[in-house]
Amino acid sequence: MFFEQGPIRPPSEAESLLLRLTRNCPWNKCQFCVTYRGEVFSRRTVEEIKGDVDTVARILDSLKEMSVKLGYNGEVNRQVLSGAYQTGDHYVIHVASWMYRGGRSVFVQDANSLVMKTSELIDVLEYIRKKLPTVDRITSYARSRTLLRKSPGELADIGRAGLNRIHVGMESGSDAVLRFINKGVTSGEHIEAGRRVVEAGISLSEYVILGLGGRLWSEEHPLETARALNEINPHFIRLRTLTVPPGTPLYDRLAAGEFAEQTEDEIVAGERLMLEKLQGITSEVVSDHMLNLLEEVGGRLPEGKDQMLGVIDRYLSLPEADRLNFRLGRRSGLYRRLDDMADPARRARVEALVKQLSGEGRLDGTLSSLRAHMI
Ligand code: SF4
Repeated sequence: MFFEQGPIRPPSEAESLLLRLTRNCPWNKCQFCVTYRGEVFSRRTVEEIKGDVDTVARILDSLKEMSVKLGYNGEVNRQVLSGAYQTGDHYVIHVASWMYRGGRSVFVQDANSLVMKTSELIDVLEYIRKKLPTVDRITSYARSRTLLRKSPGELADIGRAGLNRIHVGMESGSDAVLRFINKGVTSGEHIEAGRRVVEAGISLSEYVILGLGGRLWSEEHPLETARALNEINPHFIRLRTLTVPPGTPLYDRLAAGEFAEQTEDEIVAGERLMLEKLQGITSEVVSDHMLNLLEEVGGRLPEGKDQMLGVIDRYLSLPEADRLNFRLGRRSGLYRRLDDMADPARRARVEALVKQLSGEGRLDGTLSSLRAHMI
């Protein structure tokens, strides 16, 4: 059995059922983004989407039948999940894994589901809720420009129909940076769109890319991003770190000398500056991506701010050799947290790796390629 799915979801939606409402990205021009490059945006009809929801419902019925036959009264438990894996069918496995975890959350793909007509989006959201009654949370990506095309009343209606959370790629609050990366939106538009989402009663995640200002906007990027976030007070501020993959316009501009990347330590210093300037808001800061050097920077504002700054200060005050040790340990998967450096066995392995790579003149190249493979 088949239903359509797109390529990505936010890390926080790892347990969600993935349903595709539109294909690819209607903008597809951000200079750093590789996700939908070369792909053409297209809409799906409401009938097609509902057909996919029906397929999910049929898969659920078949899993319940399997459960009854195995003597588990329709429950999708570990044994039924194991039976689903034995089918080798990706869609059966996906639905079984989702239901095994409670079947509560759906992420609607791809990059900007809010581009759908409001009436059609509401129709689809209500259908998902009706056909999949365990669902109590539906979330989506959206662009700020698109959100501004919806009136406050429409956004409230979309929220009431069941869209609980919107993930917005703010990337930066600096107009200079937004122009440079061709985000197609201004800082003011990010602020207005974000406020409207919050006022509509929908949970809002704003994604920020650390290091996106490069050397030129090393201060403006964190300062202006903090200013915009302070104006919005989103429910979540989610941190990402810039990498520049081949095949993106930013990669070409980097090669042409039109963009200078910051070092990892400079990026961390920018992260500190942004966090320090977040004021008067109650957002939860989340560092839920492997690309972030300091995964343990996270917490609720304002009370968690000192602890977050403390983690950064602890890293930045380490001797150079220890910072290098941590960066390589983190990028090679041997460390997750600063405290992991206190484990003698792991530390010795990283030290051996530093020595070997330095001896071969491959240290910087290895660190860059380890980061590139984490995208
Ligand atoms: S809007 Fe999002 S998905 Fe589309 S190009 Fe920009 S970053 Fe990529």
